[in-house]
Amino acid sequence: MSDVPILKETTRSSGREALRNNITAAMALAGAVRSTLGPRGMDKLLIDDEGRTMVTNDGVTVLESAKVEHPVAKMLINASTTQDQIARDGTTSAVLFSAELLQNAWELVLQGVHPSAIGRGYRIAEGMSREHLSSLTVEATASMQQQATQTSLSGKIHTAMQLHLAQLAHQAARAIQEDREGRVVADPTRVKILSQIGGQMTDSALITGLVLLKKRVRSTMPKRLKAGKIALIDGGLERKGLMSSVKLKVTNHGVLETFRQEERTMLLKQISHLEELGVTLLACKEGIDDDVHGALADAGIQSFRRVARADLDLLARGCGARLNMNVDALSDDDIGVFIESRSERINGQDRWTVDTEEGGATFIAKGSTNDTVGEVERCFGDALGVACQLLEEPVLLPGGGATQVALARHLRRQAESIPGREQLAVEAYADALEVIPRTLAENAGLDPLDTLLQVVAQQAKGGDGSHTVGVDVLAKQPANMMEQGIVEPLRITRQVLAGATEAALSVLRIDDVLWAKQDPTVPDMSPEND
Ligand code: ADP
Ligand code: MG
Repeated sequence: MSDVPILKETTRSSGREALRNNITAAMALAGAVRSTLGPRGMDKLLIDDEGRTMVTNDGVTVLESAKVEHPVAKMLINASTTQDQIARDGTTSAVLFSAELLQNAWELVLQGVHPSAIGRGYRIAEGMSREHLSSLTVEATASMQQQATQTSLSGKIHTAMQLHLAQLAHQAARAIQEDREGRVVADPTRVKILSQIGGQMTDSALITGLVLLKKRVRSTMPKRLKAGKIALIDGGLERKGLMSSVKLKVTNHGVLETFRQEERTMLLKQISHLEELGVTLLACKEGIDDDVHGALADAGIQSFRRVARADLDLLARGCGARLNMNVDALSDDDIGVFIESRSERINGQDRWTVDTEEGGATFIAKGSTNDTVGEVERCFGDALGVACQLLEEPVLLPGGGATQVALARHLRRQAESIPGREQLAVEAYADALEVIPRTLAENAGLDPLDTLLQVVAQQAKGGDGSHTVGVDVLAKQPANMMEQGIVEPLRITRQVLAGATEAALSVLRIDDVLWAKQDPTVPDMSPEND
């Protein structure tokens, strides 16, 4: 309990004690994911409140599912989530590295170095690392890009699937890449992912165009349309319906019928409006009245109802259309175009495929159980994220800890020229980088220290490209990572450095932790909850 009267209901820790507590929390968190790093990493079995299970080897998935209370642990989890959002990979590495930075900082604090000097040193080290990274990179050819995508899947799924998914991810990325003012942009959210239980994982496939599991509302509508115009409605094409609270006093025979007729006439008018706009393909978020299916079919409009909002958005982007709440409000500017639209039945399943000029692709994840389909979906999502980044920035670094060892060696050489205590922090940063090769070795059953020393020695022997020596955890020995095809995108490594350093610095800046005492019996009386 705090001794400051105003902070009575708070538990307070400050100065060194706060730092030590925070670092202990960070290390505990890193301990939870350490064993998953690399292709020889182990899986974790996660069980949620409702007893649902998931087996995963993905650091960020483990962390996000854990019920973590400690605010510092939460900060590191946020860093890992950001890593996932920005780079789609490197999440375990980011947590391990920031925890290691903190652990090394603590040792310096014990030697009397002030946390702010450590913070300054870490920033210098990060800047130097970032600069040096560019001298370690190689331009990636198409086949190297695929190898890098495969590396990001290693340990997550079996080898045959790694190759298959990496190929499909690259196909998909190429299908959705756009040229924006001379710059390649590939947005992975433009790829639709469908899951199907049944069959083998290896049956998972990529289809060009956007595929939805939908059937046109009436079979007399055209099955296949060539180049035409599409309208997207964020509502429906249906009668408003009488609200249950409305009382209708029928004074005359047929009043209700007239009322219905009028509504139908209004719907028919909307269909005429679509015809005037030249629309041949229609997708609505809500329903389309059975009554007007015939009229739509007569107008030759292939129509789909109850299309999910997310799918409408994908269609809008692919066709260059704009969503509207109702047909009346549609104008020429809202109408999009498509190259082909097919409504067909394949293996007992209704499929609607739309090909558009903007490209687009659909991945069909298959597997014999819910779990395996989920795994295929997650792995494809990761692979696609990496593939898209590589199209945008086709630059690679050697993996297997080679890059981290090369950076650490560079930092140690540079540290000598840095005056003051910051020098110690730069050296501590270099040591922390080596947590990656050490952990990779450890998870492969190798001696972490011996392996690290061997890698450092081989890099130090010099010669061109010696910085590419890392730990080949499958062959269980140091090897040239470029020759082994163990490569990773520059963007992932750069983000690990930036994100982990930032997270560690924020923890180092804290010198006071105030825990509010929450009394679970007092209801939350904030006005928002009224
Ligand atoms: P993260 O969540 O950080 O991406 P991973 O479990 O995916 O963690 O492991 C990534 C690390 O494994 C990277 O450092 C990568 O270079 C390394 N790696 C991948 N395949 C191999 C391999 N065959 N040999 C050695 N290291 C590898
Ligand atoms: Mg990874």
